[in-house]
Amino acid sequence: MTVLVLGGAGYIGSHAVDRLVEKGYDVAVVDNLVTGHRAAVNAKARFYEGDVRDQAFLDGVFDKEDIEGVIHFAAFSVVPESMKKPLKYFDNNTAGMVSLLEVMNKHNVKKIVFSSTAATYGEPKQIPIKETDPQVPTNPYGESKLMMEKIMRWSDEAYGIKFVALRYFNVAGAKEDGSIGEDHHPETHLVPIILEVAAGERDQLAIFGDDYPTKDGTNVRDYVHVVDLADAHILALEYLKAGHDSDAFNLGSSTGFSNKEMLEAARKVTGKEIPAKMAPRRAGDPSTLIAASDKARKTLNWQPRFDNVEDIIRTAWNWKQTHPAGYNDRNEEK
Ligand code: NAD
Ligand code: UDP
Repeated sequence: MTVLVLGGAGYIGSHAVDRLVEKGYDVAVVDNLVTGHRAAVNAKARFYEGDVRDQAFLDGVFDKEDIEGVIHFAAFSVVPESMKKPLKYFDNNTAGMVSLLEVMNKHNVKKIVFSSTAATYGEPKQIPIKETDPQVPTNPYGESKLMMEKIMRWSDEAYGIKFVALRYFNVAGAKEDGSIGEDHHPETHLVPIILEVAAGERDQLAIFGDDYPTKDGTNVRDYVHVVDLADAHILALEYLKAGHDSDAFNLGSSTGFSNKEMLEAARKVTGKEIPAKMAPRRAGDPSTLIAASDKARKTLNWQPRFDNVEDIIRTAWNWKQTHPAGYNDRNEEK
């Protein structure tokens, strides 16, 4: 039996494929490479280039492969872009989910593990954020993901397709041997941007806002290592295989780091000065996002190995130093 990973050429998906292969699973990957990289996909996984919204293509993959469950990473995820181009997000993300569930149902595949996000909660009413807290997204990206969660819920009700929605907080880091890592273009995430400055590729870091009601005025986020995150997907798939009902889990560390603290940690890890300046707030940034993640630890028996941000940054720095041009496959799209 095979695990199908949609979006398996992307940053998080490629780490999940890698961990699945390491743990002995048979893996197939679907990715249209719009932001992903063919070279990121573990050579032991079968690769199908195509779009999740293309039902005829997906149908062909499900015909060829004996799929026991899917893990769905394929989506766009840049918040500011989603504010300007919401329909691009509802089309790729939300319509992509409809297409995938149609094909899963047709082929009687009834298990899906899904990349959801803290962005589905919007501005939290309380910290840490619990899975049962209200989900009121403040941008189209978060809305598109919340809609995907809701579509799965109704598909469970109607067709018995069981799902686990994993709501990630801030994902960073790379495989420890530095063979795969984060390569987005343009890059928008804090950790890789800090490391671009450390590597001399950018002049300085712009810290978006220092007047938030936090310990030092900068935003506070909860960082989780990409390989720990990947492992949670495998646990979630096994949870569904064991016959459990659909559910949602936060994935974070339950600890918050401010943007200034992240900068200091990166200075320590890299030994570089990393110039930084204060800049205006970025639209739509919640002040503080910290997960209550005890549910995943208890219910899925998730045991993250990276519990401090310096170790997370160290693995990202290792990837950056060994792959200064990322996967070196940039075209105009990525
Ligand atoms: P990514 O852009 O690196 O990976 C997404 C992958 O999906 C890419 O390989 C891309 O080519 C592929 N893809 C996109 N649309 C597709 C389509 N229609 N058909 C086929 N393939 C398609 O992103 P990532 O950082 O690895 O994030 C993966 C998932 O995790 C996303 O769904 C994102 O919403 C979610 N997420 C990410 C973070 C984060 O911090 N990176 C946080 C919360 C949630
Ligand atoms: N951030 C920043 N400068 C940058 C990129 C990000 O100050 O060049 C801040 C951003 O405003 C947020 C935090 O870093 O407070 C994490 O942002 P990221 O985009 O990595 O993840 P998000 O929390 O938006 O999912």
